[in-house]
Amino acid sequence: MSQYARSIVWFRRDYRLSDHRALHEACAQSSEVIPVFVIDEVLLKGFKNVRQVQFIQACLDDLEERLRERGSRLLVVQGNPAHKIPELAKMLQVNAVFLNHDYEPMAKLRDAHVERELKKLGVAFLSFKDQVIFERREILSGGGSPYKVFTPYSRAWLKALETDRASHLKEYRPDLKKLVAEGSLKERNARFANLGFDPVPLLDENGKPLKFGEAEGRALLKRFAPSIAHYKKDRDFPSIEGTSRLSVHFRFGTISVREAVRFCSEHMSEGAKTWLNELIWREFYMMILDQFPHVEKGAFKPEFDSLKWEWSREHFKAWCEGRTGFPIVDAGMRQLKETGWMHNRVRMIVAMFLTKDLLIHWQEGERYFAEQLLDHELSANNGGWQWSASTGCDAQPYFRVMNPVSQSERFDPEGKYIRRWVPELRDSDAKRIHWPHEEEGLFSSGPKGYPAPLVDHKEQRIKAIRMFKKD
Ligand SMILES: Cc1cc2nc3c(=O)[nH]c(=O)nc-3n(C[C@H](O)[C@H](O)[C@H](O)COP(=O)(O)OP(=O)(O)OC[C@H]3O[C@@H](n4cnc5c(N)ncnc54)[C@H](O)[C@@H]3O)c2cc1C
Repeated sequence: MSQYARSIVWFRRDYRLSDHRALHEACAQSSEVIPVFVIDEVLLKGFKNVRQVQFIQACLDDLEERLRERGSRLLVVQGNPAHKIPELAKMLQVNAVFLNHDYEPMAKLRDAHVERELKKLGVAFLSFKDQVIFERREILSGGGSPYKVFTPYSRAWLKALETDRASHLKEYRPDLKKLVAEGSLKERNARFANLGFDPVPLLDENGKPLKFGEAEGRALLKRFAPSIAHYKKDRDFPSIEGTSRLSVHFRFGTISVREAVRFCSEHMSEGAKTWLNELIWREFYMMILDQFPHVEKGAFKPEFDSLKWEWSREHFKAWCEGRTGFPIVDAGMRQLKETGWMHNRVRMIVAMFLTKDLLIHWQEGERYFAEQLLDHELSANNGGWQWSASTGCDAQPYFRVMNPVSQSERFDPEGKYIRRWVPELRDSDAKRIHWPHEEEGLFSSGPKGYPAPLVDHKEQRIKAIRMFKKD
């Protein structure tokens, strides 16, 4: 006999049916399970990332199709989940609500509210770790506090994994026969379009429609298998397809992180170790956001909140539109605007350029990325920006400022990436493409109307270092 006669499994950022902890637990502990998604009107107020909305809608449609194949349906309602979930629990007469943990500050508040309301109704609230291998305070320093520096955290993370690999990487296989179709509610097919989010085409850089959903997450992982051994060598070169492109799937849980770590073990190599290290960075920033939630609103090191950043609307606009006159920066920003994705090396270069060359507050860049990135993840984006701006935990020291031209020469030596995204420079040779401005005039424009540089890197670097020293 199951412990609960009827339960809800509440999908939030975990749009898959396989290796899904909450779904597994719900099916194991209940006779009937109703899958639910709430279009969160509170979270979506002022939300500008239409690509993410589109991706979620596509994943929900995919999930609905998979559920229908199994005789179930996804119940999609719209409202404030803090009220909607307890309301549904009452209407559907369920005994328990199953869900996976979320570590974002707003989500934690929402979940605490739902838990309190369900308690009043006598409905169990059962939340599980799913989107990370280690969460919250599971990885602590010798002194019993959360790590603030990545390298010792990653060492402790790997050690903890080895203590009980089998249980940490367990595959949770839900008994999908328990899923039922709830048919009594009239409101059951809410869509993001109801809130004025019109569909936008989601295209990859070759202009082909982007695929989504669980099957695509798994297909990408499989496609990455021959490349993972070369990951360490290739991952910094934006013109090479050397990374997994799985970030949006990790963001929305169309792949299980346990599956990704198991995949690393099955394809063990130096490259796989380096890739695993990136998954640990992902968890490090999630832990930081969870344990130091002030990072959402300010610097990890509060002394950096008083830095005197500069502001220029024109410079910021030129950065967003890829018109800074620094080819690698412009290539990245144009790729982002067009596709919603940017290579990690280039994310670092453009973020450092905004903060250390244009001296614009990192939060402006963080906000723009949040609107544009299909894989936008509060923890990783915040961590990446604070790392680049030297305000964060384990950040790049402020006196180490990346030179966008030498970065370009090093990581796009033939200029292939720049040529792809900056058509004005398509005919430039591999030497001139990184700095196509006339040698005699620093602020001259490049070929075919390519913009003149906004600033002098050498001068701005000195200004940036002075700004930090004054603090
Ligand atoms: C300024 C800045 C902003 C960023 N914003 C985001 C963001 O909003 N969302 C996001 O997922 N990543 C962000 N990153 C990290 C990184 O750029 C992307 O995860 C990566 O480019 C995604 O491509 P991929 O899936 O091919 O990565 P791969 O190289 O294949 O890495 C595998 C996975 O590891 C994780 N990962 C890799 N690098 C990092 C990292 N530095 N920090 C945290 N997780 C990492 C991602 O989940 C990624 O999918 C940001 C980095 C910087 C410098």
